[in-house]
Amino acid sequence: MEGALTCAYCTTGLGAVNRSLPRYFNAKMNIQISMEISTRILDAADKKDEKTLRRKTASFDFSKFSKKEINELIAVMTKVMYDANGQGLAGNQIGLDMSVFVAKVNGKLYSIFNPKITSVSEEKTAWDGEGCLSVPNRFESTYAPSKLTLDGFDRNGKKIKIKAWGMLALTFQHEVDHLNGRLFIDRLKIRT
Ligand SMILES: [Zn+2]
Repeated sequence: MEGALTCAYCTTGLGAVNRSLPRYFNAKMNIQISMEISTRILDAADKKDEKTLRRKTASFDFSKFSKKEINELIAVMTKVMYDANGQGLAGNQIGLDMSVFVAKVNGKLYSIFNPKITSVSEEKTAWDGEGCLSVPNRFESTYAPSKLTLDGFDRNGKKIKIKAWGMLALTFQHEVDHLNGRLFIDRLKIRT
């Protein structure tokens, strides 16, 4: 069947993308894409956006998309993240009901599908000034596991496992939270 992109902000309606249509060129993004993907980053301050951000995303079904479409999806998400000076972007932040995120940490670009945090250290790290593209102009002190293990899939559907610590652990926690409908403001540092 055709790949169906659920996008809360497609004006043409939800549902299957007709692949027989000519591929359209998104001039603003300078990326040729065959699916309609909104590039607007949802804002938790907006009621409708918040509802989308607070919903757990559906698992990404590799069988529904071609390799080319998956590469395009990653390209678009990466571009949106770069343009917004972000360090990570989860699918639901642009209205996609898909478990996928992109992130750039220490110069390395990650694009991970169906991620799951499978183990966390008991030790936590306190962070100052964590922020989020969907919670603009708000920076908070937070806690995140110092180390964690992330299981997921790469763009080819190949299983991956990454052991992360420091900023990478924080970023993975932040993005997996998004895909589970949580925001970093749920993880505020609590005084004990
Ligand atoms: Zn975020």
